[in-house]
Amino acid sequence: MTEVRTRFAPSPTGFQHVGGFRTAFYAYLLAKHFGGKFILRVEDTDRERTVPGAIRFVIEELKWFGIELDEGPSREDLKALGEDWEGAPDIGGPCGPYIQSLRISRYKEVAEQLVASGHAYRCDCTPEMLERERNEQMARKESPGYSGYCRTRNVPADKPHVIRFKMPTKRSVSFVDAIRGKVQWDTIPLRDTVLLKSDGFPTYHLAVVVDDHDMKITHALRGIEWLSSTPIHLLLYEALGWEPVTFAHLPVINGTDGKKLSKRHNATNSKELREQGYLAEAIMNFVTLIGWAPGEGSDQEVFTCEELVQKFSLAGINESSGVFDPVKLQWMNGLYIRKLPVEEFIKRAQPFLEKEGVVVPADQFAALASHVQERVKTLTEVGGMVDFLMDRPLERQMDAMLGKGMDNEKARQVLFLSLERLGALPEFTTEVIDQALRGVATELGLKPGPAFVALRIAVTGKTITPPLFESFAVLGKDKVLSRVRETLELLPK
Ligand code: GLU
Repeated sequence: MTEVRTRFAPSPTGFQHVGGFRTAFYAYLLAKHFGGKFILRVEDTDRERTVPGAIRFVIEELKWFGIELDEGPSREDLKALGEDWEGAPDIGGPCGPYIQSLRISRYKEVAEQLVASGHAYRCDCTPEMLERERNEQMARKESPGYSGYCRTRNVPADKPHVIRFKMPTKRSVSFVDAIRGKVQWDTIPLRDTVLLKSDGFPTYHLAVVVDDHDMKITHALRGIEWLSSTPIHLLLYEALGWEPVTFAHLPVINGTDGKKLSKRHNATNSKELREQGYLAEAIMNFVTLIGWAPGEGSDQEVFTCEELVQKFSLAGINESSGVFDPVKLQWMNGLYIRKLPVEEFIKRAQPFLEKEGVVVPADQFAALASHVQERVKTLTEVGGMVDFLMDRPLERQMDAMLGKGMDNEKARQVLFLSLERLGALPEFTTEVIDQALRGVATELGLKPGPAFVALRIAVTGKTITPPLFESFAVLGKDKVLSRVRETLELLPK
C-alpha cells in the first residue's frame, strides 16, 4: 500500500479558530492511523490578506495540541517570510518548500506546461474590459464569468497577462468523496478561471493541485466550502495527466446559535481557551467528536490520543453539520482534569495560580490537590479553591452564611462550640477534626448542612472549597481558630 500522506493547508489570513483545527486533527489522525505522514503546508498566495503571526500561531497551536508534523516549513523558509521566532521549529522535508509564496517558479512552470499542451491560454483583457463584460452579462441576466475572448488570440508571453484554464464546457465531472460518496456536476460551475495572475502568483486552484501532487498527498481533507471548486481541480489533474488525491469534504461546524462557527462566537480561539484553563487533549477530543464517531454502536466519548489514532476512519465522519457546544467542552475539560495524575495536575495548575497571584505553600497545595481536581472544570478555577490558604485578610461571603436554617444566633452557637471542640484537640488531622465537629450540629439541634456552611465561610470565606476537614487540617489549628474568632466578631451581637 502506498504511504498515506495528508496535509493541513491553512491560509494565514487570520487566526484559526478551534473548528479550523478539526481539519488538522482529522488529517493527522488519518495519517497516523495508517502509519503515514502528516504535513503542514502554508497557502499564502493571497499576500494582501496575509496576517503577520498567523503561521506562527498555527505551528505553535499544533504543537500545543501534541500534533507532530512530519513535514512542514523549515526555519530558513520561515525566515525568508520574516516569520521566524525564538524557538521556531525547523520542520522541513523532502518536498519543500512548504510555503506557497516560496514555490512561485513551480506554479509558473506548470501553467506554461498547460499553455503548451493547449489546456490553458494567456489573456490580456484589462480589468475595465472584464468589468464591461460582466455588466453586460448581468444585464442579459446571465451568470457572470469570462467569455473566453482570448482563447484563440495567442496573446504573446511578453505582454502583461494572466493564464486562464480552458474549461471544457460540455461534459460532466464526477468523483467519489470519501465522506459523501459520488458527487457529480453535469455542467461545470466555473468559466475559464485564472490559474496564474499577472504578478506571477498562482490562484488557489493551481497551487493546491500542484502542491498536492508534488507533495505526494494521498488524501485531501478540507471544509465543505471547497466542494464547489473540486471540479476544476479534477479537470486540472486530468489536463496534467496526474492521479487526483482522494478528497474528503468535511461538514460545517456551527455554534449553538445554528450559525457557522466563527470568531464571533465566544471561546473558539485555542489560545484563549488555553488561557481560560482548558487542556489541549480535552479540546482535541471534543473538537474531533464534532462530526466524527467511532461507530460500531460505541458511545465512547472520551479517548486518549492513541485511541483516536487507532479508531479513526473517514467512514466515521458525518455528512451533516455538527455543533460546537461550549458547555459540553467545559464538561469534557472537567473529565480530563480529573483524569490527570495529581502531580501533572499540580504542574499544569501552577502557572494559573501564579498568574492570579495565588501564592500558597507547595506542600499545602499538594495536600489538597486531588480534592481540587475533583471540583474544577477549568484550571482557572483552581486559584479560587485554594486562595483561602494564603496569609491575608479573608473576605467572607457572610450573606451566604445566614438564611435557610441558620440565623445569627445559631451561627454564633455553631462557631462557639466548634471553637471549643477544635481548641481542645491535641493534634489536628482530618480524622480528629472530623470526630470533633461531626456532632456539633446535632448537639445544637441543627441540620448539619447549614452548620457546616457557616463554618466553611468562617474559615475559608467561601461556600465552595475542597472538603472542610481536609481544608482545616491543611490550614492548621492556629489559623482555623483565629478565623473562627474573627467571624464571631463580625456577627452582630
Ligand atoms: N487554504 C485553504 C483554507 O485555508 C485550504 C484548502 C484545502 O485544504 O484544499 O481553507
